[in-house]
Amino acid sequence: MNEPGTQLDVLAVFSHPDDAELSVSGTLLKLKSLGYRTGVCDMTRGEMGTRGTPEIRAKEALEAARVLKLDLRVNLEQPDGHVWPTEAARTAMVRIIRAHAPKVLLTTHWDDPHPDHAHTCQIVREAARLATMGRYDASSGQSPVKMPALMHSLFSRTVVPSFIVDVSDFVEEKMKAIRSHASQFYRAESQEPTTRISEKDFLHQIEYRMKYFGSLISVEAGEPFYVREALNIEDPVALLTRPMNIYS
Ligand SMILES: [Zn+2]
Repeated sequence: MNEPGTQLDVLAVFSHPDDAELSVSGTLLKLKSLGYRTGVCDMTRGEMGTRGTPEIRAKEALEAARVLKLDLRVNLEQPDGHVWPTEAARTAMVRIIRAHAPKVLLTTHWDDPHPDHAHTCQIVREAARLATMGRYDASSGQSPVKMPALMHSLFSRTVVPSFIVDVSDFVEEKMKAIRSHASQFYRAESQEPTTRISEKDFLHQIEYRMKYFGSLISVEAGEPFYVREALNIEDPVALLTRPMNIYS
C-alpha cells in the first residue's frame, strides 16, 4: 500500500477517518474484487471527535485499509470541523488527483447536514475540474489529468439514487472494516463518552440501511449513489433486465 505514484482506478474522498468505511466500503471491496485499484483519501484526522485520538484513529484507518485491500490511503490533514473549500484545500486535492489519476471519484453528496461532509463534496467537485487545467498549480510540476467522473454516496438525505451497487457478497468484510475503527463504536468496556455512532444500535442501523437499499434492487445488500451528469448507456436492454424491484 501507498507506493509512490500509485495509479488508481477509484478514489474515495471523505471527511473523517471512518466515513469511507461507513458509506462506500462495500463498493470499494466489490471494485477491488473486479480487479480495480482502489484508494481512500481522508480530509481530516478526526481530531474533533469525542472518542479516540488522532494517533489511535490513524492506526485504525490503516487497519481498515488492510481489510479493504486498498492500494492507497492518504490523509490531507485539513482541520476537523473546519473543512472549507479554501485555495489550500483545493490545491491539496488537485495534487492527489494528479498524482494518482483516478478514473472515478466517490464522495459525499453536497446536501449533507455535516458541514465538513458538504464542503468535502464541494472541494472534490472543484478539484476534479481544476486538475484538468494545466496552468492551475503549475508550480507543482504535475501534469494535468482527464477529469475523473464523480459518484456521490447517499447517506443522510432522501435523494433518489441514480443506481445502487449490489454489495451482498461484501457485508461481512465491510462491517469488519468499520469495526477496525474500534474507538468510535460501541464497546461495553469503553469509559469514553457516548456519541450517536457509539450507541449500541448504530452498527445495526448501518446493516439495516444496506439491506433496505439492497431490497430496492432485490438483492441482500446495496449501497446507493447519485450521479449529477447524464449517464451514457450502451445497451438499455441489458441494463434494465438486471434484477429490479417494481415496488422500489
Ligand atoms: Zn464524517
